[in-house]
Amino acid sequence: MAKTPVLTPQAEDFPRWYQDLISKAELADNGPVRGTMVIRPYGYGLWERMQQDMDARIKETGTQNAYFPLLIPQSYLTKEADHVEGFAPELAVVTHGGGKELEEPAVVRPTSEMIVNASFAKWVQSYRDLPLLINQWANVVRWELRPRLFLRTTEFLWQEGHTAHATYEEARDFAARIHRHVYADFMENVLAMDVVLGRKTPKERFAGAINTLTLEGMMGDGKALQMGTSHELGQNFAKAFHTQYLSKDGKQELVWQTSWGSTTRMIGALVMMHGDDHGLRVPPRLAPVQVVVLAIKGDEAVLAKVREIGDALKAAGIRVRVDDRTDTPFGRRAVDWELKGVPVRVEVGPRDLENDTAMLARRIPGGKTSVAIGALTEVLPKILEEDQALLLAQARERRELRTSDVTTVDDAVEATAAGGWARIPWSDLGETGENALAEHGVSVRCLLAADGSVPDSDDAPGNVAVVARAY
Ligand code: AMP
Repeated sequence: MAKTPVLTPQAEDFPRWYQDLISKAELADNGPVRGTMVIRPYGYGLWERMQQDMDARIKETGTQNAYFPLLIPQSYLTKEADHVEGFAPELAVVTHGGGKELEEPAVVRPTSEMIVNASFAKWVQSYRDLPLLINQWANVVRWELRPRLFLRTTEFLWQEGHTAHATYEEARDFAARIHRHVYADFMENVLAMDVVLGRKTPKERFAGAINTLTLEGMMGDGKALQMGTSHELGQNFAKAFHTQYLSKDGKQELVWQTSWGSTTRMIGALVMMHGDDHGLRVPPRLAPVQVVVLAIKGDEAVLAKVREIGDALKAAGIRVRVDDRTDTPFGRRAVDWELKGVPVRVEVGPRDLENDTAMLARRIPGGKTSVAIGALTEVLPKILEEDQALLLAQARERRELRTSDVTTVDDAVEATAAGGWARIPWSDLGETGENALAEHGVSVRCLLAADGSVPDSDDAPGNVAVVARAY
């Protein structure tokens, strides 16, 4: 008799597969208010690992962490016209406090440009105070109409960077540095994710920005997901809040700003880019647990051995968990670790002990091999690095195979219908074409320069639009 699959197979129903996985791998549950999410310990462990790595990269740019209030006076929101227009439909507003109606309602931050600028305007006096480089780790609320766990929740966790510079060029270069050297580097080297770096079209730009840089990933079903964004804000917020400095020449000048954010959405992306019909596959550099050592049976010799192996692997710098819960059937525990995507299982039973070997089950390429226990500390670090590279290569190959070059809107719609991306010269598409695509549920994910790099302007000759259906 065929085994009943633990998850709905991807090919049968990808969104169902995603939901099954989030629930069965114990990543998150729906919260009681629609669109909210309870992040379970295993899911939060992934987030903590992301935070640690990203935080170090952010600090390397000279940026410091700070914290700004959750509640923002409603009047602040109206100060930047594009910003308020973009965010108004998504705002949660607090009208009562302590049982009384508030004199001025407070908005729950959807992002913090306004409240950060109120402080920046005070902190920045002269050119000596620049650049001002601030990041905060926080939660934000955007009243999403079509929420999906991790991908689009009403409340999500993120980091948001806010910087002020003396010149346009400095701000532009800083936004680009975050885009490539913090976000792309982290996503490729730690998350093993294949990302396309490009520039948003004016239609897709952040409300209040003069340029939005994006990272787009192809998910297992060929749809696109925006994984993070870095914005050049120009002087729009500086004008609204009078954030200005005394220049070396003794003149009052407005600052040039950037803002940039990445969120718990990356966990959803991890699931959809690397997951398969057996569950999640976590890249080893991210994995909170890289290797799980399982006792197959509860006899003393086996239990002692798995603990000894656990200690040796820990001493070798591997993030290891010993699973000696032998009152739960071994098969069930193995399936559970497979669902959670732990890269390697080291399985030890009485028969293995006789030969001084362990069974090594690899989640990422699949397959099992028997290995001498004494060789584990040498073999495992190599395997983990191999698996890290394999995940990135598989993701990249999928995107390359499923991307085609087209020249008309009709062909772009067709190419993306079955899950896939299309590249189309921006001069053949333009805003009219972009709107025509939108009617078919297809959007321009980003613009690339002719050589595949990030273009300096929307209309640079040779610009190519990458179009797809998106989450
Ligand atoms: P933004 O401030 O709009 O540029 O958003 C920054 C990043 O947050 C985007 O690039 C998305 O990857 C992510 N994001 C936007 N909305 C949500 C949401 N509702 N839930 C999770 N992540 C989100």
